[in-house]
Amino acid sequence: MNENLNPNFKELNISKPTLKALKKMGLSQMTDIQTAVLPKALSGDDIVATAKTGSGKTLAFLIPVVEVVVRNLNDQIPVTLCIIISPTRELAIQTYTVLKDIISFYNNISSTLIIGGESRKKQSEHLFNGVHIVVATPGRLFDHMRTKEFDYKNVSCLVLDEADKIYQYGFEEDLKQIITRLPKDRQTMLFSATKSETTEALIESAMKEDVHIINTNEDNDKATVDGLKQGYVVCETEYRLHWLHKMLKKSQKQKVMVFFSSCKSVVFHHEFMTRYCNLDVLCIHGKMNQDERTCTMTQFYNSAKIALFCTDLAARGLDIPAVDWIVQFDPPSDTNEYIHRVGRTARGSGAEGSAVLLLRPEEVEFVDYLKEAMIYLDKYEGWNQYSNLQPKLEAAMTDPEFHKMAVDAFEGYIRALEVKRLKHVFNVLSMDMDLVAKSFGLKEKPDVDIHIGFSKKHRARKRKAALLSTTVGSTK
Ligand code: ADP
Ligand code: MG
Repeated sequence: MNENLNPNFKELNISKPTLKALKKMGLSQMTDIQTAVLPKALSGDDIVATAKTGSGKTLAFLIPVVEVVVRNLNDQIPVTLCIIISPTRELAIQTYTVLKDIISFYNNISSTLIIGGESRKKQSEHLFNGVHIVVATPGRLFDHMRTKEFDYKNVSCLVLDEADKIYQYGFEEDLKQIITRLPKDRQTMLFSATKSETTEALIESAMKEDVHIINTNEDNDKATVDGLKQGYVVCETEYRLHWLHKMLKKSQKQKVMVFFSSCKSVVFHHEFMTRYCNLDVLCIHGKMNQDERTCTMTQFYNSAKIALFCTDLAARGLDIPAVDWIVQFDPPSDTNEYIHRVGRTARGSGAEGSAVLLLRPEEVEFVDYLKEAMIYLDKYEGWNQYSNLQPKLEAAMTDPEFHKMAVDAFEGYIRALEVKRLKHVFNVLSMDMDLVAKSFGLKEKPDVDIHIGFSKKHRARKRKAALLSTTVGSTK
């Protein structure tokens, strides 16, 4: 499809205040996915939509959601008609912000944000007083669904954004519970840039038989966007930290996101680069409180040149202006996660950005897996000149607190590798742990047990969810 020939939003059968808001947001012509989804979604059909990162999926569900409310507006106390679920709090906040823009010309549509890390009591009051549209993360939404304050029997539209992520272990049971409790005669819409085996199960359990499957990726010959320049660098284990330092130095005048596989690794590298190397770096991970997380994201959104160290918490859906570089310092969990991480740059038509994946020599086979998933990486050569950080590291290690951070980060790195699916590519058992320790500035390998399987965190949550599903009634 050629985006230049796509129709204008005005050609849709939607309410005037929405059109006015779109105009104010500077939007007139629909993107491909909006052109394909909107007419069907506006007629109330179930939709499964797959389209690349940055292709405008948010409005493809927000516009129909608002119409559902408009059609049901009356003078009575508002009831909850639509629920939008996001996998992360940051994405929920962003979606809520776009929703606020879209409904800014209506004075009788109400909405609220229901995410973890914020006051349950306030959220409960909002829900009790009645609100038309709820934007939520699954865990906290389910918590409220188990209280009397939240009446969801009128919900007629459910949206799952980044559906494959919401349905991954950890959230899966919460989502199953949410879906069984919501009214059956509702419209359901699933959106994502990638599909996984779990998406099929979700379609089966949550959607009507005549669901429309829309995929604007299908006729493309690659899974990532055209404006993205992507490559990989092979780096010996013990030089990884040095490489990162060099990368940050080179990109000081740019906006950069660096992905790590654990919170502890983010903390350690952030401490080292800011405190001991005087570099300007922000960080975000799931162990920070929500105020800190929101404040960091706002700062990153508004900066033109800065680096953000993050976990995959920031991989999904975030629409951050003008990110120049995506650095995958630790490898992604799979090819889908690769797509989402690099999807934080080169967003929207004609946009450009660059990405680099750092691999240890033993991990280079991952490039072939990416190729199978239609992701084509160049090998970046000449990136093996490293800064000598040894004196800085040795000085830093004399601080016991910093030393502890390094040990924790080492453990976090190993734990993340243990749960990777491609075990022969990311093989913990064959790794030289002394070299890995060295990459965290440690002289000796810390004493860490190696398990292959699910991490403790996920086991605990799975157990809790399984228990709930057997003790809580499943209808309302
Ligand atoms: P996705 O969810 O597909 O990754 P988003 O919905 O976050 O993408 O949108 C990506 C960017 O494209 C946003 O900045 C958004 O404002 C912009 N956008 C969305 N729809 C349009 C449109 N019809 N015309 C121009 N820009 C658009
Ligand atoms: Mg999105």
